[in-house]
Formats: sequence, C-alpha cells, structure tokens
Amino acid sequence: MGISQNDLPSPPVAGHCRARAVSVDTRLPEETGVVIVGAGIAGICTALYLARRGVDCVVLEKGQVAGEQSSRAFGWLCSLGLDPLKMELTTLSKRLWRELAEELGPGRLGYERCGLLHLCESEADIAREQAWLDSVQGFDDVDARLLSNAELAEHLPGCRRPYAGALFQPSDARVEPSLATSALADAARAAGARIFAPCAVRGIERSAGRVEAVLTERGRIRCSQVVVAGGAWSRLFCGNAGVALPQLSIHSSLVRVAPLAGGPASCAAADGYAFRRDAEGGYVFGPSSGHTAYVTLDSFRLFFDFLPALRNQWRQMRVRLGRESFADLCLPRRWALDEVSPFERRRMLDPKPDVALNLKTLANMAEAFPAFRQARVTEHWAGMIDATPDSVPVIGAVDALPGLFLCTGFSAYGLSMGPAAGWLLADMLCARPPSCAPEAYRFSRFSDGSRLRVAP
Ligand SMILES: Cc1cc2nc3c(=O)[nH]c(=O)nc-3n(C[C@H](O)[C@H](O)[C@H](O)COP(=O)(O)OP(=O)(O)OC[C@H]3O[C@@H](n4cnc5c(N)ncnc54)[C@H](O)[C@@H]3O)c2cc1C
Repeated sequence: MGISQNDLPSPPVAGHCRARAVSVDTRLPEETGVVIVGAGIAGICTALYLARRGVDCVVLEKGQVAGEQSSRAFGWLCSLGLDPLKMELTTLSKRLWRELAEELGPGRLGYERCGLLHLCESEADIAREQAWLDSVQGFDDVDARLLSNAELAEHLPGCRRPYAGALFQPSDARVEPSLATSALADAARAAGARIFAPCAVRGIERSAGRVEAVLTERGRIRCSQVVVAGGAWSRLFCGNAGVALPQLSIHSSLVRVAPLAGGPASCAAADGYAFRRDAEGGYVFGPSSGHTAYVTLDSFRLFFDFLPALRNQWRQMRVRLGRESFADLCLPRRWALDEVSPFERRRMLDPKPDVALNLKTLANMAEAFPAFRQARVTEHWAGMIDATPDSVPVIGAVDALPGLFLCTGFSAYGLSMGPAAGWLLADMLCARPPSCAPEAYRFSRFSDGSRLRVAP
C-alpha cells in the first residue's frame, strides 16, 4: 500500500512562535464546505462562528496556529481614536470578546477590561481628542471621556511627567496575544472545525469559473468556498490566483519587562511610548512612531495606492532598505500548484526586532515613570502588520471569482476586530443578513472607482 500525503511527517517550522501550542487535526479530508487559509485571529474566528452555525469548515495554516501577527500584537482591544467608519464593527467585536471571555473564562484569553488612555501633551492634543469624541457620538459602547487632572493622576501612579490631559475609554480591554487565538482555536475545534498545521495552501482550483478546490502541500480538498485570511501573505496568495489585493507590510517591534509593582493598570498611548500591563504584572511597550516600511517590489507597484496613507502617517513611519527587503526579493510571485510554494519556504514571519528602538521606547517610559528605570527586559520581538491603502480591512466576496472571500488587511487593529470580522464573514457565507454594514469592507472599493479615504 502506498503512503499518502497525510502520513508524511510534519515539516519543521523555523522561527520563534509566541503562541501557546494547540492540538491540531491529522487526516486531511477530501472535501469540506469552507476552506480557510490562515490560522490567525481572522481565520480562527471565521471558523469558530461558521462551526457554531453547523458549517463544515477546515482551517489550513502553513506554520503554527497564531504564529504570526496574532500572537505578536500589543494586546489592546480598542475603539478609542478609530475612524467612525470602523466603529460599528469594532463595537460588535468588543461585545464578542466580552462574551468569549465570560464563556471560556478570562484567564484563557488573558482578557481584562482595563480601559485605554490617550495622553495629551498640549491643549491642541486635547482639542484633537475632543474632535474625535464629537465624531463618534451616538455609537454604542463609546464611553470615552476627557479626564480631570485628579482622575488622570489616579490612572498614572508614579508618573512624573505633567500631561495636559487625557482621553479615557473604560470599555476598551486587553488580551494576552500569546494565549487568545490559541484558546479560540480550541473553541473552534470543540465546535466542529478542523485545523491543520503545518499545511500550506498553494492555490485554488476552479471549475466553470468558480472555486472548486484548494491544492495544499498535503493534497487536494474539494470545497465550494475559500476564505483567504492570510495576514501579510494574502496579497501574494491572491496574486497567484489572478486577484490584485493592494496590501503592504509594516515592521513593528515590541519589548516586555518583568513584573513591576505599583505601575499603571490601564493601557496607554503617549508621545514616545505606548504600554499594556500583562496578567502577571509585567509590561509590554511599543513605540508611538518608528514603524518601518521596508522597501520591496510592491512598494513601487503600489506607490500611488499608498501615497495618501504615507502622507497621513509620515511622522510615524520610517522607510528603509533592509533584511525584509531582500527576503521579499527572493520570493517568487508566480508558481504552479504542483510546485513548492513560497508559503512552504517561509513558514513563519519572525522578523528581527529593532532592539535599539525598543530600548529608546523603554527610556521614554522611564523618563515619565522613574520606577521603570529598574525594569528588567525579558523579551524583544517584532511582527509584520498587513496594511491596506485606506487602513480598512477587506471582509467579503471577490466578485470575479465566485466562492472566494477575503478577511484580511486589518491595518494594526485585527485583534480588536477579529471576532466581529469572523462573525460578519460567517453571516455572508451562510447568506444571512449581515450583523453590521459590510459596504466599507467590500473588496470592490479598490476597483469600482470609489474615492478612498484613509480611515485609521
Ligand atoms: C507588533 C504588533 C502589534 C499589534 N498590536 C495590536 C493591538 O494591540 N491591537 C490590535 O487590534 N491589533 C494589533 N496588531 C494587529 C493584529 O495583530 C493583526 O491585525 C491581526 O493579528 C491580523 O490577524 P490575521 O489573522 O489577519 O493575520 P495573522 O495573525 O498574521 O495570521 C495569518 C496566518 O495566515 C497564514 N498563512 C498565510 N498564507 C498561508 C497559506 N498560503 N497557507 C496556509 N497558511 C497561510 C500565516 O502563516 C499566518 O499564521 C498588532 C500587530 C503587530 C505586528
């Protein structure tokens, strides 16, 4: 008897995985209803809500469950400061996160409703926060308000820097990214979804102009619907299928320090640093600016699509040639479905962190909060954020290829929006009325002549 692809040993996955390991399935089916490409928060939440509606679905992950962005995130679940266009989806997501934390137990997700602060240096900053507040009046779950000086001092124990004020949203929360998507993957499997990792999807087969199957490194799975939830790889995957998705990757570094007593409990963003306290009392820090856009072939191809976003975020960004530029140059853009694909060549995006930037961020924090001068660094890491030209995700169908759906391009807010994105896509795949207005997320906005507005 011959050996089937299913019986082959798992290929090694190079890179450091921050996510808690989960149990996965072993025997690839010949057929399913929906195949989901990618086991980050977007793919896992889509599987969770599809399985709970009784849909037969399979998640295929080239590396490890939550091995890329979803375990490398800061861990904020927030709507504070977001464009009103994203408010309905984010509000739904915050409610779903609360329900998931109640159902699974907050410890499984590292969930805590700790609130988020935007610290203001000047009256001009306060006026900007007030203008945002005015723009989101009437949305459920927006409970943000400007704090008095006495309230601000309560939120920032040990702070020596005189801030002019702050906007605070108590309903914003945090999760532990190394736990949350893994816990939801367990919940999706318990609901009936099957998850295979490592198992790269090489591409899509069609028949009569619509999706018929996916080809994976371990064999073929017949299916009528495919969801691409491939994070920073979605553009490459779609490109080989003849679908042009405008998406670029931005490098972002974070640093964690050991538990420190008496520090602030809320998450906060300030000029020079941003932070989150973790479940053990340690802190995670990230820069408020200094994210890096590595120059790649796509930087040139998509230059005009991203020009408005670049103008908008110029102060927070650095454009560089570096290791990721060269890694990108080596990636093939086209491959046949019986060939080893780029997804097997690089199973996990584990970019090198910018340690100097992380230490500068920590120094900025220590200047404001002297207790952090003694902080002991326990981890540096980085991730590649997948961004769209308007900073709005794509959640919906690809009209040119019936059966193909996208759930990607979360532009630094995918952890906050993941459950609602999965829920909304499950509505679409089950042909149910959408739980929130889907128009802003449609893929066709990039090609139907719509005037795009950057909506961070
Ligand atoms: C440093 C950093 C900080 C962040 N902080 C926050 C935050 O505080 N709050 C917030 O809301 N968001 C944050 N984000 C953004 C958030 O992490 C992402 O938007 C979100 O995790 C994206 O989820 P995803 O499922 O779309 O992608 P990912 O988590 O990247 O998952 C995509 C998966 O698809 C797999 N894949 C790709 N192609 C294939 C293929 N062909 N076959 C099989 N598998 C494939 C990949 O291996 C990967 O595991 C942060 C991101 C970073 C990097």
